[in-house]
Amino acid sequence: MRIGIDIGGSKVAAGLVNRQGRVVSRKKIPVDKQKTYPRVRDDIALLIKELISENGMEKGRIERIGIASAGQIDRETGNVLFSPNLGWRNVPLRADLEEICCAKTSIENDVNAAVYGEWRFNLLKGARNVLGVYVGTGIGGGIIIDGKVYRGFSNVGGEVGHIILNPYGYPCNCGGTGCFEAYCGGSYIVERARRGLESGYRGKLWDILGGDLAILHAGHIEEGYLLGDDLCVTLWREVVEYMGAALAGLANLLNPEIIVLGGGVVYGTQYLIDEIRPIVEKRAMAPSVKGLRIVRAKLEEDAAIIGAAFIEA
Ligand SMILES: [Zn+2]
Repeated sequence: MRIGIDIGGSKVAAGLVNRQGRVVSRKKIPVDKQKTYPRVRDDIALLIKELISENGMEKGRIERIGIASAGQIDRETGNVLFSPNLGWRNVPLRADLEEICCAKTSIENDVNAAVYGEWRFNLLKGARNVLGVYVGTGIGGGIIIDGKVYRGFSNVGGEVGHIILNPYGYPCNCGGTGCFEAYCGGSYIVERARRGLESGYRGKLWDILGGDLAILHAGHIEEGYLLGDDLCVTLWREVVEYMGAALAGLANLLNPEIIVLGGGVVYGTQYLIDEIRPIVEKRAMAPSVKGLRIVRAKLEEDAAIIGAAFIEA
């Protein structure tokens, strides 16, 4: 048995993963409000301990602990160099957990882990070249080339969310402008719709929400688009067009066999992939997308846990 840990901005999820890549037992805890490293690290260690004891396992039977964390990871040391959601800088997470839990521990970027999990256990493994794009609040990517996770020169490759689609476009949280994420990331889309409503726009979107802006997510905007709400039509067409363009560019670059799409915006909408497919086909060079499959991620929240437990360090 292996243990996979997914450290998010608001919660830590842990799972006991069997040899077939299935999560057989899981636990979740909220991230401590202060998000300080020692506190969260100790919470993670406790979570692992509970998962082991509650399943009547002996410590020695854990083959490996795999951690998935957002941000940049130093492969040599296993330190988290920077975590955007937790604000950590250069913390020795792998070494600490290895010492506390007495088990071999590895650490990987969360999207790389998720894409690896999908690739290995969601029947994508027959494909040697796979691109994964996770559209949540922001956008992350993972690239598998010739059956291996592509990490780049300093282990920070695959940041597809910050590919610049328009140098004069919307501002992005990375400090740049016109990034893929600034056009298609969930929090950015929602923010644009919210601004419209706050400046007095009414229409079907307002009715869908019952006037409650706090619940607004990408699924509502797609729903408004399908009903012909003017604001949602403009917004959603832009999302679909830019996402199609981004994926077409990536297909030209990588010529993948499969593009797997995951994340909250993908899971929370119905037809996004169907709308994007023809745009990718139209915009990419024909040989780059010949035989390309664009599919929805299946493992959803478990993907990073499973991937982290199995990815080769
Ligand atoms: Zn950016």
